[in-house]
Amino acid sequence: MLANYGYKDGSGDFFITIDTDKCNGCGKCVAICPARVLGLITDESDPFRDIPVVAVTEEHRRKIKYSCAPCKPTVGRKTLPCIYACQPNAIKHSW
Ligand code: SF4
Ligand code: SF4
Repeated sequence: MLANYGYKDGSGDFFITIDTDKCNGCGKCVAICPARVLGLITDESDPFRDIPVVAVTEEHRRKIKYSCAPCKPTVGRKTLPCIYACQPNAIKHSW
C-alpha cells in the first residue's frame, strides 16, 4: 500500500509517500533524518503485519516543505538522506 503524507498549496505538491509493502521497519531512515520527520508506527491498516512501518510524524505533516528544506538537493548533494538510507527503496518525495 502507498501511504501519502503531506499537502498541496499554491506553490506545489509536498508529499512523502511510503510504500508499506517495501518498508521492512528497519528504522534507518528514522535514524538518519535530522529533522525527526519520520517515525516508526504500528500499521493499523494491516492486522497481520508484525513489524513496524515508517510514517511522517503528525507534527510535520503540514509543514514538510519546510522541515525537509535543509535536505533538498543542492550542488554536491543529489540524494536525500532518508532515500539514501532506505535499501528497499520504500520512500519517495513529490518535490
Ligand atoms: S529505511 Fe526504508 S525500509 Fe527502513 S524503516 Fe525507513 S522506509 Fe522502512
Ligand atoms: S528529506 Fe531530510 S528531513 Fe525530510 S524526511 Fe528525508 S531525511 Fe528527513
